[in-house]
Amino acid sequence: MKITGMRVHDIRFPTSRTLDGSDAMNPDPDYSAAYVELITDGGLTGYGLTFTIGRGNDVCVAAIEAMRSYVVGQALDPLDLGEFARRLTHDSQLRWLGPEKGVMHLAAAAIINAVWDLTARRAGLPLWRLLAAYSPEHLVDLVDWRYLTDALSPAAAVDLLTDRAVGREQRAAEITDAGYPAYTTSAGWLGYDDAKVTRLAKEAVADGFDMIKLKVGADLEDDLRRFRAARAAVGPGVRIAVDANQRWDVPVAIDWMKRLAPLDPYWIEEPTSPDEVLGHAAIRAGLRAAGPDGGPIRVATGEHVHNRVMFKQLLQADAIDVVQIDACRVGGVTENLAILLLAAAFGKPVCPHAGGVGLCELVQHFSFFDYVAVSGALDGRHLEYVDHLHEHFVDPVVIRDGRYRAPERPGFSAQMREDTLTRYAFPNGPEWRIQ
Ligand SMILES: [Mg+2]
Repeated sequence: MKITGMRVHDIRFPTSRTLDGSDAMNPDPDYSAAYVELITDGGLTGYGLTFTIGRGNDVCVAAIEAMRSYVVGQALDPLDLGEFARRLTHDSQLRWLGPEKGVMHLAAAAIINAVWDLTARRAGLPLWRLLAAYSPEHLVDLVDWRYLTDALSPAAAVDLLTDRAVGREQRAAEITDAGYPAYTTSAGWLGYDDAKVTRLAKEAVADGFDMIKLKVGADLEDDLRRFRAARAAVGPGVRIAVDANQRWDVPVAIDWMKRLAPLDPYWIEEPTSPDEVLGHAAIRAGLRAAGPDGGPIRVATGEHVHNRVMFKQLLQADAIDVVQIDACRVGGVTENLAILLLAAAFGKPVCPHAGGVGLCELVQHFSFFDYVAVSGALDGRHLEYVDHLHEHFVDPVVIRDGRYRAPERPGFSAQMREDTLTRYAFPNGPEWRIQ
């Protein structure tokens, strides 16, 4: 089977009209996707996307087009997907635009994810089951180990995966039965008023969630008021994480979180710049005993951490408690595999980022795979959930009793509905022409 064509779409949803997705750094996002369809001569189509929040989505589309020659004409049998990803991210001229970061890397993610979707469809398996069926050696061969071996060697990764291979089938059966624990961010967007936060927080608990997340960081008094309202709505037993979306300098982050501490924040997410390895370490140290019981306020980051090398440093510096992988920020499936291995080697839980459009659909596969084959653990692990835009997908996520149900259709769950591609096409789809 050969890839004979590639279609790239600029799809945007006008979410800024309702302030869904609003936070301290991104007050008016229009959730968008640079969306890829890979056409083959075997009758199958592969689907992938990368996520943006509006303006610039066309730049991602152009970056995907710049890599067309790596994709179209590619034979899938045999295709070494690790080597394919390495070629794509190390083009001798395009690499100058990164390397392995920014628009080119977002674009590479859309393509790599689409090729993995195709591969899983061919195998007749959901992506997580396909990955979980690979041998430790095969999984390790997929990873680009350049820049990682001072922290984790391929041989040590094989040992780790071999150790976790015991009980894979049992864990797969168990997680299929029970579902993967989730938390919801839908109650806490910064643009929502207190009454809406209270109502949605209560609904979240009634729906079975035992953790929610609030956006913070624009105004301390507002944060205290909204946090009190949310805490009163859910009670003391429900975890409330907070997310500052990179808003603060290091000392501000520590001081601000100490003010919120009596309300028992479970973690502070993106307290400062995602490139701030030492700053995250300083914040973590500053909050080590800041919780109401003298325990730590955890530090989480990852949705803007642009590659495996940055994650490696955050782990080496003991700068974070929670690793927040993103399905589309780094180089797709293969680079996320590297990050899952690093997190397991350093003993840190992975709680993926999954706001946006399509990110829940994609990243759930990594959490199921992580439990079955990499970490083998659920403690301290919650997969983010946001309850909008799922209706645009052919195989949307299913949440029940606060848990993701295992995706079972072949592929990576990235395919959008045909009518969505027409209606939300930017700038000429009907949803945008009425503006
Ligand atoms: Mg976030």
